[in-house]
Amino acid sequence: MGLTIGVDIGGTKIAAGVVDEEGSILETCKVATPTTPEGVVDAIADAVRAVSGDHRVEAVGIGAAGYVDDKRATVLFAPNVNWRNEPLKDKVEQRVGTPVVVENDANAAAWGEYRFGAGKGHEDVICITLGTGLGGGIVIGNKLRRGRFGVAGEFGHIRVVPDGLLCGCGSQGCWEQYASGRALVRYARQRAAATPENAEILLSLGQGDPLGIEGQHVSEAARQGDPVAIDSFRELARWAGAGLADLASLFDPSAFIIGGGVSDEGDLVLEPIRKSFRRWLVGGEYRPRAQVLAARLGGKAGMVGAADLARHG
Ligand SMILES: [Zn+2]
Repeated sequence: MGLTIGVDIGGTKIAAGVVDEEGSILETCKVATPTTPEGVVDAIADAVRAVSGDHRVEAVGIGAAGYVDDKRATVLFAPNVNWRNEPLKDKVEQRVGTPVVVENDANAAAWGEYRFGAGKGHEDVICITLGTGLGGGIVIGNKLRRGRFGVAGEFGHIRVVPDGLLCGCGSQGCWEQYASGRALVRYARQRAAATPENAEILLSLGQGDPLGIEGQHVSEAARQGDPVAIDSFRELARWAGAGLADLASLFDPSAFIIGGGVSDEGDLVLEPIRKSFRRWLVGGEYRPRAQVLAARLGGKAGMVGAADLARHG
């Protein structure tokens, strides 16, 4: 099979790209994400048509945030778009006239990294996406593992703190409340309020108010050596690495791939994650350890992965 299209449905933008068998993106386009479910279907179809052009496209893969059924056809539940048992595959196929598969967005990103990014050459990788929340994907034995009902790899909602912080999912103490972009901002705000003398750069970026601190401020301040910003990254990394140790007990992969906006900071966050991972890995000194690698495809992983999954079925 030749060219396929990968579609990445984000909270604000829908991105579509024509992708070849090597994972190279030949053409892309972006449209704003509509607010209604019907609007999103229209926008996907428009984006697919716009990017197709003269290319002979054989299939379309859609990466969507939410629970996707094991047939890769229906979005059972989506947190951002109001989808409840949405037959997305059928609806988009009717519009674009080519076969369509629907994948969970974190699974699509994991597959993209496994095939063409940091996971190349590995057979068993676990991908973690540290974005606003925490997403995951499982590739074991060179296969994407979706589980019986299609919803495996939802690591963000593993409960790591009994009776811990309330999560948007309705549970308490979920991992993403402690290891995610949102958690990073919370750490920075709390620490800046408690010890403003150690957060001068951070506070100036937040207009002097701890509540004015946003994610990009923490990154910027950490790069400039702000102690509270650096400490906030370390706290996030501590939770992330401890979780990886748990996942190693479950899956025993050869590599963890860390993607998402938070991982853009590279070793600033990856080194403390590695340290925490070693600290919490049972028998860590007496066994081979998985590598902890930075994702390589950045924001394109989901698009490339969805396109490739449409090709390989
Ligand atoms: Zn949760």
